[in-house]
Amino acid sequence: MDLCNIATVRKLMEKYGIAAKKGYGQNFLINPSVPADIAEESYSYHMGPSGGKSGSVLEIGPGIGCLTCELAERYERVRAVEIDRGLIPLLGETLADYPNTQVINTDFMKLDLPAFLSEHFPEGKISVCANLPYYITTPILMKLIEEGEGRFDSITIMVQDEVATRLCAAPGDADYGSVTASVHYYGNCRKLFKVAPGNFLPAPKVTSAVIRIELYEEPPYHCVDVETLRRVIAAAFGMRRKTLVNALMASFSDIGKDRIGEILVELGMDIGVRGERLSTEEFCNLANAFYEERKK
Ligand code: SAM
Repeated sequence: MDLCNIATVRKLMEKYGIAAKKGYGQNFLINPSVPADIAEESYSYHMGPSGGKSGSVLEIGPGIGCLTCELAERYERVRAVEIDRGLIPLLGETLADYPNTQVINTDFMKLDLPAFLSEHFPEGKISVCANLPYYITTPILMKLIEEGEGRFDSITIMVQDEVATRLCAAPGDADYGSVTASVHYYGNCRKLFKVAPGNFLPAPKVTSAVIRIELYEEPPYHCVDVETLRRVIAAAFGMRRKTLVNALMASFSDIGKDRIGEILVELGMDIGVRGERLSTEEFCNLANAFYEERKK
């Protein structure tokens, strides 16, 4: 069954009495080369030139199953989490030839992720591959990164091109933001290719892009307390027009403006610097210094 053929997709939707739900961000891929390319980018990073079915992958939002099939052709174990109950019987048909694949009908955001991973992937590294619903891209990504407990080696996802640019931006770039700085603590982001709106049904208004986040085994900069890092980054980008000292005062007023200024100088930063110019290493250094300061 060609799950990217418009006529097939329409026939399946008619058969199961479903329509694409805007509220769930349902834009289904209709060009077969796109899911094949996404799956290959994911698999080749996860397994290298291994040959044969191997490895484990988690998909979020299988939809009609076109990317799921491509993953099931490559990976030994595929688990796909789909929120839309109406798609489950349809997926039963489209994935019938893949006993290595299981669909779990739940809201990814409500999952106890560590428990889910232990149950479905008892051992080994897992890759994540998905054409993400755009209404909830950042929360899904942050949940994967923050709750994955080191189980994921890579996250290959389709997102809006604008989001892809933001995630792959460098300090000082106009697109560099709090999500960029947070994600860069955990891994390296690579923009792989763009996908035009005409490749989806229904066509979204914006261009999409596939990125791969290659997660570090150990973050290169050690942060003693990730919660403090989160707060430092949020404060630094929360008040973009202010200098970093003033922006940080909003969340770390107990440390005091003078001491915050001293800490910046001790860390070799310019007192008038703005948050959007700081690298991940500098954010880590600041978070570690604030954490120690509060222990005094
Ligand atoms: N993978 C399919 C494809 O590429 O054609 C569908 C991708 S579509 C952009 C996003 C999918 O994510 C839909 O199937 C939607 O129902 C599902 N979805 C949306 N929110 C979700 C959530 N919170 N948890 C799990 N799945 C979700």
